[in-house]
Amino acid sequence: MKHFDYIIAGGGCSGRSLAIRMLPYLQSTNKRLLMVDKLNKKENDRTWCFWEQEADVFEPAVYRKWNHLSFSGSAHHQELDIQPYQYKMIRAADFYAYTDQQLSESNHISMIQGNVDQIYTEQEQGYVTIDGETFSAGYVFSSIPQIQEKRPDRYQYLLQHFEGWVIETKLPTFHPERATLMDFNTAQEAGTSFVYVLPLSSTLALVEYTVFSENELPAASYATALKQYIQEQLHCEHYDIKEREKGVIPMSDHPIKQQDGRIIYLGTAGGFTKGSTGYTFRFIQKHTAAIVEQLTKSDNPQVAAISPKRFGLYDATLLHLLNSGRLSGKEIFSTLFRKNKSSQILKFLDNETSLMEEIRIFKTLQKREFALALLNRSLKLMSSN
Ligand SMILES: Cc1cc2nc3c(=O)[nH]c(=O)nc-3n(C[C@H](O)[C@H](O)[C@H](O)COP(=O)(O)OP(=O)(O)OC[C@H]3O[C@@H](n4cnc5c(N)ncnc54)[C@H](O)[C@@H]3O)c2cc1C
Repeated sequence: MKHFDYIIAGGGCSGRSLAIRMLPYLQSTNKRLLMVDKLNKKENDRTWCFWEQEADVFEPAVYRKWNHLSFSGSAHHQELDIQPYQYKMIRAADFYAYTDQQLSESNHISMIQGNVDQIYTEQEQGYVTIDGETFSAGYVFSSIPQIQEKRPDRYQYLLQHFEGWVIETKLPTFHPERATLMDFNTAQEAGTSFVYVLPLSSTLALVEYTVFSENELPAASYATALKQYIQEQLHCEHYDIKEREKGVIPMSDHPIKQQDGRIIYLGTAGGFTKGSTGYTFRFIQKHTAAIVEQLTKSDNPQVAAISPKRFGLYDATLLHLLNSGRLSGKEIFSTLFRKNKSSQILKFLDNETSLMEEIRIFKTLQKREFALALLNRSLKLMSSN
């Protein structure tokens, strides 16, 4: 049986983020890592957006960044001052090309394409079976989704589903310096829905229609909503669709196992998708950086939680409130943005605020509805087993 010091199962965002961060450690300790993915990842299968204050390791792959954002809610429009943050976009194709190049230059990393059939842990070793052949490792890092039985009696299961088009317009339509974070000028019948607009030039932008609800919509509904938004809000009749992206991100408070013996879960599979927003990229970066810091200190990749537990409670409460229909996402986000400093909101959504800062934010929100959602969630947990 072939043995590696580490195996990364799933070479997508989190697998590659970890591999890149591990490069200096592998070099200095002369250790070997195997990364496997079932796909030869080259295509631009998604676009990651996130905010950060300082440049991180993937800065060379950043395609666009914005210092100014805007928000449109119930009958109000706001320009957001997000300093000291910048809002950034990375195209998956650039990320895969950049990481392929860095990883292929290392003789400490082997990358293979194959299907992971099984991952298991026994006697202080991890094992990965790839297309019928089993490999062993000191630790396995997996971003392959774990099979999880749903518990609707205890937890909320919403989906964030979306379709986006990169459109090119004949006339200058976009303000290249300002991206639209959320525009709620969309029909809200299907669930909380909004559009974001990421301008790439004055005539080119990614326009993405996003819905939070229990089920995906019929395929044609996304196109209808996008056409309507482009016509009515962007006042644009003539445009070409250059690229399309579609996706579904789980939004849930179902607890996810982050470690099982010698298997450490990464990315969405490890619960690093924020339940209330779907944002994952920055949490993946924090988690993989923490793993490497720990490895460098002690050769042990096990890390403590990257966010205080109370943020899980906040996310779960918001999901309960959205699901109850007592308040719409449009009302909640509009109040949040209208009454708080943008940089504080971004810090809060990054799970980085202090308890005092959170109390100040909660005071601005719909206290009664949030308290009821919190109570309902507690009752639900108590009445199920
Ligand atoms: C279209 C889209 C857009 C998104 N945009 C954003 C965004 O703007 N900001 C943000 O923060 N988050 C975003 N997300 C959420 C999240 O950041 C991404 O899903 C991110 O790619 C998650 O990283 P990951 O490593 O967990 O999963 P992935 O990147 O999906 O990697 C998992 C890998 O495992 C491989 N794999 C799966 N099963 C097997 C198997 N049996 N054998 C071998 N390999 C296997 C897959 O091929 C894949 O490469 C988006 C998600 C989607 C789907």
